[in-house]
Amino acid sequence: MLKGKVAIVTGGTRGIGFEIVRKYLANGAKVVLFGSRQETVDKALKKLHEENSLWEVEGMCPKLTDAKEIEEAINKVQEKYKKIDILVNNAGISQSTPLYDYTAEEFDKVIDLNIKAVFYAILPTAKIMRKQGGGCIINTSSMVSISGQPAGVGYPASKFAVNGLTISLARELGKDNIRVNAVAPGVTKTDMVAALPEQTVQAISARIPLGRTGEPQEVADAFLYLASDMASYVTGEILSVDGASKA
Ligand code: NAD
Repeated sequence: MLKGKVAIVTGGTRGIGFEIVRKYLANGAKVVLFGSRQETVDKALKKLHEENSLWEVEGMCPKLTDAKEIEEAINKVQEKYKKIDILVNNAGISQSTPLYDYTAEEFDKVIDLNIKAVFYAILPTAKIMRKQGGGCIINTSSMVSISGQPAGVGYPASKFAVNGLTISLARELGKDNIRVNAVAPGVTKTDMVAALPEQTVQAISARIPLGRTGEPQEVADAFLYLASDMASYVTGEILSVDGASKA
């Protein structure tokens, strides 16, 4: 589905991001994954190469919250591959701090990574995509961008912002043939959820209409669809993959 395409995936070393990288590679894309540390990048690359030594994947670790560093990294990808077809902004952190315990620093941390870094990555990439005649940007939102959550307000606030940026840029960049969408996962079985006690997972699952948490592969499928030509007329969409959790 992605034969010959070049993709960048931020936060591609584990969880949902890692599954997106695997799925893109398995569908013929060349992928550059961005991680936060060289050690975790190397570990992810080793795992991918063990699965298929022919997959064209490499890793970099620019500081995503530094606009200059991310621009330099993206320009390096462009220099090497001569194009960037797909940008996936997946790196993110969540918070569950009650309002009265919040500090300004903690709030800034989630805003810096979950929204400012998304903008920093889009800015140089969109310029490249415009020059090459088009491209596709997919951001990672969350079901809490629709429902909110009862603590850790910085997290839903950042994901509401991701939706705003996605919908607005889809309108602005349509003329440059750049599609901009987001995927809004529900509770997904990444390391964080897998580490919860079985009882907690059961309680969460009981509140989900499909009766279970999502698998990272199921979320990655939505990223594959949106990146592919099957979604050639889809832009400005926030695609929920949440078992109807927010309903
Ligand atoms: P995860 O913690 O397993 O992975 C997060 C990724 O982001 C990792 O690759 C990590 O290296 C990267 N990252 C974190 N901080 C970073 C930093 N400062 N600089 C660079 N990279 C950094 O989480 P996940 O569950 O796979 O989440 C991926 C995305 O999906 C996030 O945007 C998250 O908000 C969103 N999401 C997850 C769930 C869920 O239930 N797992 C639900 C809704 C949305």
